[in-house]
Amino acid sequence: MNKKKRYHQVVKRILCPEVTHCLTCQSKLKRCVTISDRMIITLKQVIRLVHCGYRCPQEECPGRSILYRSMEADALALSGFTFGLDIVLEVGHLRLSEHKTVDEIHQHLSQQLVPLEQTISRREILFLFEAYTALLRAGTEVTCDEAWKEQVRKNKGILLSIDGIQPDHGNETIYLMRDVLTGRILHAENVTESTKERLKQILTPVVALKVPVVGVISDAQPTELQAVAGLWPGVPHQICQFHAIREAGRLIYNADARVRKDLRIRMQQKTHEFRQNIHKRLREAEEQKGEKEQEIQQLQILEEYAAMVEGAINTESKAPFQYGGLNMQEALIAIESSLEKLEKRGEQ
Ligand SMILES: [Zn+2]
Repeated sequence: MNKKKRYHQVVKRILCPEVTHCLTCQSKLKRCVTISDRMIITLKQVIRLVHCGYRCPQEECPGRSILYRSMEADALALSGFTFGLDIVLEVGHLRLSEHKTVDEIHQHLSQQLVPLEQTISRREILFLFEAYTALLRAGTEVTCDEAWKEQVRKNKGILLSIDGIQPDHGNETIYLMRDVLTGRILHAENVTESTKERLKQILTPVVALKVPVVGVISDAQPTELQAVAGLWPGVPHQICQFHAIREAGRLIYNADARVRKDLRIRMQQKTHEFRQNIHKRLREAEEQKGEKEQEIQQLQILEEYAAMVEGAINTESKAPFQYGGLNMQEALIAIESSLEKLEKRGEQ
């Protein structure tokens, strides 16, 4: 029997298309539909994703039938999956590159999901591995998908997104080529080198689809730009802020997480013991009220500070831009300078 998943630490994200203006007439796009509203579990967050679809508002525009989607939303999870694409890639990486057994992968991922209060079953791991291999076969399936081709004809071509995703370890990159207009994955491939020639190779299946490419969106690594310019000369190539920021953000986020963990380990035990001690002294002082009025006051102030420190070291991070470690440090500095002021006043 399926146990219904429970979600405690949910982050709500509303994602809209990165393309803001109609590709045909350049009018500003308008929101027209909610493509999906669903829960996604990634390695870092549990997300309630609201994916908004936009359209050109001009009645007479030939590009009005195009539904614009958010590339970032499509990149979070494959459609129909609760576990994020990052987990699918992690499973594939652990299985095929690190040759881990299903049980080892199960154990590894279960541990990673503990902070999110989420679980994953062994069966789900198998299912995700299947999804990974299906992803690598995506290109062949798309070639025979007539309904998809019809949609592309209506859209007058594809808007190609090239997304190189690196698992946290190892030196491989998995490239996902996707049509932003239909959200469809066109091809996926694992590479260990991202030269212009290698990128041209992995783009070959997209060329073989023989569909017009109306634009390309990528994080604009120089080799990507060169490969695209070689294959589709003259096609507009947009540098995607989402791709670029995600790459920069990942480095900072990981560094911050290490600092936060370090600080927490160093301070948690001490702060806890300190507070226990104050609580004990407060109880003793309160028993003999009258004489101990001043001491009680002092202890209460110390307890407040200690509680603030404890609050600060439990600051959480939220990707991409809320850094728990940085916030923690700022809070601790504020507490320290407040304590210094208090000390100075005491000396006067
Ligand atoms: Zn238009």
